Amino acid sequence: MHVKKLLCVLTALCVALSLAACAGAPAPAASASSESAGPVRQTASAVLDRDGRAVFAEIDLSGGWSVEFASGAFYLYDREIDENTEAAAIGVTLDEEVFEGYRASSEGAADLREIENGFAYTEETGSRMYLTTVGEDAYFLLDVSPDTDGDAAFARVYLERAEEFDYYEPGPDYLVLVNKLNPLPEGWEDEIEIVSSANSLGDTVLAEAEAYNAYLALKESLAQEGVYVDLDSAYRSVAEQQEIMDRFIKEYGAEYARKTVAQPGYSEHHTGLALDLYLNVDGTDVYLNEDMVLYPEIWEKIHQKLPEYGFILRYPEGKEHVTGYGYEPWHIRYVGDPDVARWITDSGLTLEGLLGAAEETEVDIDYGSSSIFTPEELEDAAVQIKCDFASWEGCALHSLRYAGDEACTEENLSWLNSFRLDARYVQIAEFLGSFHSPADGLSAWDPDTEYEDHQWWLGRDESGSWEIVSVGY
Ligand SMILES: [Zn+2]
Repeated sequence: MHVKKLLCVLTALCVALSLAACAGAPAPAASASSESAGPVRQTASAVLDRDGRAVFAEIDLSGGWSVEFASGAFYLYDREIDENTEAAAIGVTLDEEVFEGYRASSEGAADLREIENGFAYTEETGSRMYLTTVGEDAYFLLDVSPDTDGDAAFARVYLERAEEFDYYEPGPDYLVLVNKLNPLPEGWEDEIEIVSSANSLGDTVLAEAEAYNAYLALKESLAQEGVYVDLDSAYRSVAEQQEIMDRFIKEYGAEYARKTVAQPGYSEHHTGLALDLYLNVDGTDVYLNEDMVLYPEIWEKIHQKLPEYGFILRYPEGKEHVTGYGYEPWHIRYVGDPDVARWITDSGLTLEGLLGAAEETEVDIDYGSSSIFTPEELEDAAVQIKCDFASWEGCALHSLRYAGDEACTEENLSWLNSFRLDARYVQIAEFLGSFHSPADGLSAWDPDTEYEDHQWWLGRDESGSWEIVSVGY
């Protein structure tokens, strides 16, 4: 029993150590603090985790003691740590079974005694053992070396049951993905801290606290280069989005509302991490989308600075089939870590691509030649197709081509208008494309199949905007 028990602890320690040594593993957050009043008292604390039973440990380090934390254990030293220093004590969280094993083997010990929430005894090796329960279901052992004062070492340790894994995610997940296919995670709105500010237009703007601070630093840095930005809109609650949706349905009908207003729960603005900027050019606020796009060189300067402050350009040009949104130079997204932001930007990935939520294909687009439409008009139509394609879950778009002016017949146009009561289309265009279906076979497509010459029929109304009307073979 004794050997088995020791092996258990040793295995546990090795697991803890290998976790701590692995750069990718979440390391317990250690912190040190000192109080200025009275004698200097230094402490360090961390959450020790064993199978989700987490224990918050605070260690008194006054008198020159030091500590090293691993994921389920800590090493306590009576001096500064160097390679040759042996630990004065090892603290480790245990399984209930191992804890009970210690209780059984303590029974023959001459100095066995009760301590608060547990028991203490001396092993044959001379090690002083302090075993306690923490809360209902977590167990802890402090194993003090024979030449250290056991009671004094144990008195340095304060333990408390911690929430499971709460050190894994000390704050919001700054890489959260919210798009047309992925809703806001449940409970998100309770987790984030929202701050309120006013912009130059007198509007109140809400944003997640850390994202807002990063934005202020970005704004300051841009101002030093003569580029002036302000915050148009950032955080919008799901409830608020629902109100907007309801109002639009009431005033304009369900179809128009669905096309104009983002589905409540599926807007990145719910995260508080998406910020819409506007410009101030020569002392004048420029905030309408159609005006803002007239300053590409200013946006270029802004976009270059984003990664340094933890932001990415969320809806870049040419990635509409991945993000589901047309190019928005003003919509920036806080991802938390400037290194991550830099990596995403330099690699040319979108957040979807980074997280493996969509295949980041390059789409080969051929506009051919047309005597009916300008290249810009055809580009607008292709963006419509690509934005819609982003909702074809698991599919990867490879190519699109304009089918040619031959398809723009009166007959085809009246066919397209037959889909609508108001017969609003004045022009028609056909695109053909190839895409690959997902392997899992959950979609409407045959699994893992390359579809060629798939058809997209679009109608164009008086205002010049395109709409996908029919898709298929
Ligand atoms: Zn936006």
